Amino acid sequence: MPEAKVAIITGAASGIGRSLAIHYARQGVTTIIGTFPADPHDPEETLRLVIEAGGRAVIHEVDVRRTESVEAFAQRAVAEFGRLDYVVANAGILRNSALEELSDDRWNEMLDVDLTGVLRTLRAGAGRMPDGGAMVAVSSIAGAVYGWEGHAHYAAAKAGVLGLVRSLAVELGPRQIRVNAIVPGLIKTPQSLDPVNSLGPDGLQQAGNDIPWGRVGEPEEVASVIAFLTSNDARYVTGQSLTVDGGLTVK
Ligand code: NAD
Repeated sequence: MPEAKVAIITGAASGIGRSLAIHYARQGVTTIIGTFPADPHDPEETLRLVIEAGGRAVIHEVDVRRTESVEAFAQRAVAEFGRLDYVVANAGILRNSALEELSDDRWNEMLDVDLTGVLRTLRAGAGRMPDGGAMVAVSSIAGAVYGWEGHAHYAAAKAGVLGLVRSLAVELGPRQIRVNAIVPGLIKTPQSLDPVNSLGPDGLQQAGNDIPWGRVGEPEEVASVIAFLTSNDARYVTGQSLTVDGGLTVK
């Protein structure tokens, strides 16, 4: 029997990252659950759900704003399980800020997490992967095609992720490491349920009515597509971005 694949996922104590850890558990993929202690999410609950799904995982604190923290996170996979196959740069923040309040500090904070944090994660992962493997970075429709007032810094960071992925796909192609982006639409997670920085529960419900599919997405519906992109079924797919939005952006 082939050895189990090993994945690292940043921001896996909640939302899409948590769903992905559970999805991987069902597929026999071992996960390093990246957790960010500054947030009130419960990594133990992710671990419990992974074990319930028959999987194997460990929790590891990681702050994507710090290179050494991300390097230690990727190293944990190699140290504990002897390999690293899949890297998922999922961690992100969303902050509502109108242009007149969008100070350099706010701008830099956003780019540090949502763009440079992705670079740090992919770089740390690529350095520890053998030739062969797959990486996915989580972008957003706001970074691809969708204008969103109060979120220029978020959109810029998420657009940057798409460029980063395309170029790394070319650079890492000769090593048979694939790099793709996922582009979620409106997904029901702690990020979008936050009424201050995003739509909140009522806003999400309402927004769902305008989506061709008739509702917003569930985190599992993004997680399963990330798992597809890292799987062997997508072995000739690299440098691409795949939108998961129930038809929102083609309406
Ligand atoms: P979420 O808030 O549940 O997940 C984000 C995770 O990132 C959290 O677990 C948080 O603790 C972690 N995080 C924040 N700052 C961090 C840091 N400095 N270091 C490490 N981890 C950090 O929300 P989610 O919707 O599951 O978000 C996952 C990804 O999906 C994010 O990149 C987000 O921008 C993206 N996304 C979400 C939606 C949506 O509608 N929910 C849409 C498009 C893109």
